[in-house]
Amino acid sequence: MAPPLHPATKEPIRPQDLEPLFAKELIRQEVSTERFIPIPDEVLDIYAKYRPTPIFRATRLEKALKTSAKIFYKFEGVSPPGSHKPNTAIAQAYYNAKEGVEKLVTETGAGQWGTALAYAGTFFDLAVEVFMVRVSYDQKPYRRTIMQLYGAEVHPSPSTITNFGKQILSTEPDHPGSLGIAISEAIERVMTQKNTKYSLGSVLNHVLLHQTIIGIEAKKQLELVDTQPDIIIGCLGGGSNFAGISYPFLMEKLRGKNENLKVIAVESTAAPKLTKGQVRYDFGDSAGMTPLIRMYTIGHKYVPAPVHAGGLRYHGAAPTVSHLLEHQVITAEAYSQKEIFEAAHLFAKTEGIIPAPESAHAVTSAIRHARRFKEDATTEAPTILFNLSGHGLLDLLGYEEYLNKRLVDYQTDTEQIKQILLQTPNL
Ligand SMILES: *Cc1c(COP(=O)(O)O)cnc(C)c1O
Repeated sequence: MAPPLHPATKEPIRPQDLEPLFAKELIRQEVSTERFIPIPDEVLDIYAKYRPTPIFRATRLEKALKTSAKIFYKFEGVSPPGSHKPNTAIAQAYYNAKEGVEKLVTETGAGQWGTALAYAGTFFDLAVEVFMVRVSYDQKPYRRTIMQLYGAEVHPSPSTITNFGKQILSTEPDHPGSLGIAISEAIERVMTQKNTKYSLGSVLNHVLLHQTIIGIEAKKQLELVDTQPDIIIGCLGGGSNFAGISYPFLMEKLRGKNENLKVIAVESTAAPKLTKGQVRYDFGDSAGMTPLIRMYTIGHKYVPAPVHAGGLRYHGAAPTVSHLLEHQVITAEAYSQKEIFEAAHLFAKTEGIIPAPESAHAVTSAIRHARRFKEDATTEAPTILFNLSGHGLLDLLGYEEYLNKRLVDYQTDTEQIKQILLQTPNL
């Protein structure tokens, strides 16, 4: 694969260049070519508080759809923070604590990642500091409260505790903030404090690696009922839960087993990098401070519309996911906000679980593919497996808008994406 490049020199980045930011073991995993990396017992012990997560057959949904397809879903919303994100937060907290790190700093948009890291920090006596995008800090107080209960320090970003934040507030005191600004503030904070490292919740190889526990478990669970999926579906923000559910199965497909397996990444039409972007080198943040990564992107300056699926509002996709799509090993779909809340509503009424708006994208795709096979279909219907990455009990504002028919659909402007892609480095 194309190597990540240093943002200033544009030369391939060396593992040691990353040491100021990340724990050494996480960097080793980032560049590892090992097939398997064992999960430490200390991490397994904490996983055991909510893992293995359950897998269900959606029989009532199948009935409602009048489909002959079998639909299974793996439910990651049973973790205490309510999503798949603690799978990597726990591992990252463990490796950092083991190397003597005392504090982790990160950014969070809607709050799921910050919540997961705050939760993980409690088990290893790690201090956690979170820069939370100001609009969410003000509009989503419950996630903030959860982080604070776990003991994390939460700052609205832009904040007054970093130079970068102060600089922005001096010209625009009411700045709503952005994920890019929050990343820049978190990195500045790491650089100016002792025994402090940075932590990222998606996109990087080691994050995707930690999430493969989802697919490894799913494979064993389905084997217990002699079942093999024909279609695997995951929603995609940066790519971690999608990789988590699909990579253990893709490994077999690439080795010639279950060759007809279809794997689908589902994004939001608000951030359509896989369906409307390009593969090229781009920054991971909007300030242009991170290494350059070759990935599907709509441009690091693109500001996705404020859809309720906050976790999918990211301009790029993980490099390995991008590589698989470029080589047509996987496919991609995009759905709009109105479509996904409708699908989520049907899912809630039939299966009893209210999906996170992000996860509702996977639900939408699963329903669409199942609907192609009626109960009396003569062709053999597929077995579909999708990842329900989180519950939506802290996203009820979106559901309320849906019920009151106040949800807005945003049009993506292909011309604007083209213009913004021109602002990515010409490499
Ligand atoms: C963060 C989040 C996502 C998107 O992130 P990925 O890294 O693409 O998995 C999806 N679902 C939920 C519930 C999330 O919290």
